Parts: sequence; C-alpha cells; structure tokens
Amino acid sequence: MANKILVFLEQRQGQIKKSSYEAVSASIALSQNLNSEIEGVVIGGEVENVRLAGNYGLKKLYHIKNEQLENYSSSAYTDSLLEIINTADAQIIVFSSTSMGKDLAPRIAAKLDCGIVTDVTEWKVENGEIIATRPVYAGKALTDVKVKSEKKIFTLRPNVFKAEKISEQEAEIEVKNPGDLNLKTRVVDIKKSDTKLDVAEADIIVSGGRGMKAPENFKLIEELADLLGAATGASRAVVDAGWRPHSEQVGQTGKTVSPTLYIALGISGAIQHLAGMRSSKYIVAVNKDKDAPIFQIADYGIVGDVFEIVPAMIEELKKLRT
Ligand code: FAD
Repeated sequence: MANKILVFLEQRQGQIKKSSYEAVSASIALSQNLNSEIEGVVIGGEVENVRLAGNYGLKKLYHIKNEQLENYSSSAYTDSLLEIINTADAQIIVFSSTSMGKDLAPRIAAKLDCGIVTDVTEWKVENGEIIATRPVYAGKALTDVKVKSEKKIFTLRPNVFKAEKISEQEAEIEVKNPGDLNLKTRVVDIKKSDTKLDVAEADIIVSGGRGMKAPENFKLIEELADLLGAATGASRAVVDAGWRPHSEQVGQTGKTVSPTLYIALGISGAIQHLAGMRSSKYIVAVNKDKDAPIFQIADYGIVGDVFEIVPAMIEELKKLRT
C-alpha cells in the first residue's frame, strides 16, 4: 500500500516514552485520512510492555533487539532504522521531537535524501497530501509545509498531540537482531541528573528567572513544583549564572516545552525564552514589572513580588491538600 507510515518509538532504560505514544496516536489519525497502513519500530535491548503499543492502535511493531542498542548510538540506530524502513517499505517516517528524535530524524532524511519537517504542531491531509504546521521565527508565526519527495519524515513536538488508548489489543512484535554492530561509539556510563521530571515532558512546569535573586531561593520553586507534581524550569540567565542546571533551561538554546500549565516566576519574557514555551496551553506569570513582556502572552498575570506571591501560593496549595 502506498504511503505506509512507520512510527519510531523511543525507549529509555527499557521504557517507551509517552511522547512516542503521542506520535502513534497522531499517526493513526493521519493514516485513517490517508487510508494507509501503519507500523511501529522500537530499537533497544529488553523493552517493557512493548506489546502495549497495540493499545494505541499499532497492530505491528518491529523490535530491533540487541543489548548493544540499549543506549542510544547515532550510527547504530541510523543503520538499524534504515534497514527496517526498507523492510517495511515505509514512505512516511514519524519521530517525536525529543533530543533523540532531533538527532536521528535528520540523519535518516540525509541517508534517504528526502524532505523532513521538524517540530510539527499540527497536521492534516488535503487532496491526499500531508500539510504539516510548524512554528517559525522563534514561535512568532506558523508555517504550513508540504514535502515533495516520495519519502517523507516528520518530527512531532512532544506534549502537543494527545496519546490515546483506543483498544485492548496487543501489537504483534517482529523481533530482529542485527548481530554484532561494530559500534563506532559506545556509552560507558549514564549519570542521572538530580532533576526529578524532565522539563520537556512535564505537563506542568514551574520556572524561575533572575527575579528569584539567588540560587537558594529556588527552594520556593521546588516546593511549589513538588506540590503541583511539576517539573522545575529556568531561564538562561539563571543557568548561565550557574544557579540551575542546563537541563532545566527553557528557550531557544534550551528545551522547547508545551505543558498544560507553565508558571513563570521572575522571568522577563525575552523573545528567546518565549521561543521555548509560548505554545504552553496556560501561562501564568508573576513579575513585579507590569510592563514585563511575559505578560503579553500570559493567560493569568500577577504584578507582584515573587517572595510574597509564591509563599502564598504554596500555603494555599498546602491547605487544599489537608
Ligand atoms: P531578566 O531579563 O533579568 O528578568 C528578570 C525579571 O524578574 C524582570 O522582568 C524583573 O522585573 C523580574 N523581577 C525581579 N525581581 C522580582 C521579584 N522580586 N518579583 C517578581 N519579579 C521580579 N533566555 C532563555 O531564557 N532561554 C534561552 O534558551 C535563551 N537563549 C538565548 C539565545 C541567544 C542567542 C541570546 C542572545 C539570548 C538567549 N536567552 C535565552 C537570553 C534572553 O535574551 C534573556 O536574557 C533571558 O531570558 C533573561 O532571563 P530572565 O528573564 O531570568 O532575566
């Protein structure tokens, strides 16, 4: 069948990421409009609950299984994936725009010499063609893109499409072992960061900027985030100052996030910061400067001192808990 879709499901430490299920659900909807077949592929060692991808509508999943593939390797993943794209005879390959997807998808596009649209936030089918929408100019505008090459690659922004379980069925798994991979690079150790939730995947983010005044004051941000089950984020100013780790940086040179709720505390709202968070569903900002640019995109704005407002928020949330 023409226009067969292959969705790349990303695993980390044997767990399939939520953003991959979002990519599956978005691709299932697309396949229905294109009247095309859809399959998935996961690369790794042991992967937990791999069959449950069927719950999201995937009937078949290739599992390229080898212990040397437990951790991401650009070259080995590229080679393995190219082989499956060939075997499956897929024309449309879909990734999530995670750091792995951002590394892998362009490599595959270069090898296949085909067009790629990255960071897609919406897509539709018109006259049998896919029209993908993506933000441009640091999120200030949106553009619609059609890929003209026969094979097409898309990466979907995490937290934009909804992962939907639509069946009780399990996926059929076809395991392939590529044998000895002769890896050019090898991950020798993985050190977990202290950050509890990855800012790029969280549904709620509490972010702090230079208005927090000192690194020790981020305990307020952490406490509020804990109460909300949120991830902690930061502006580049505080990351550059060494107050927070780079893994928390939101913006043009940090992570792009699309949570349901983004709380910006003592962040001015520079264009480079907005570039990474303006597609959040609800934005709440606290800033003592009523003219701070963050208020131009905030759904709820509080003009005030974070050291008065945040403790009050914490107190109210604690009351709700008791
Ligand atoms: P500031 O701009 O200093 O703002 C602090 C805010 O806190 C002010 O609005 C102030 O009114 C408020 N404030 C102060 N005290 C209080 C208080 N007690 N209560 C309430 N509010 C208070 N920035 C990013 O964030 N992410 C990026 O990825 C990024 N990439 C960049 C890439 C390039 C190429 C360049 C040139 C810049 C980039 N920047 C990025 C930097 C960006 O331009 C800003 O400098 C940065 O976002 C400012 O951080 P801030 O809002 O924390 O600090």
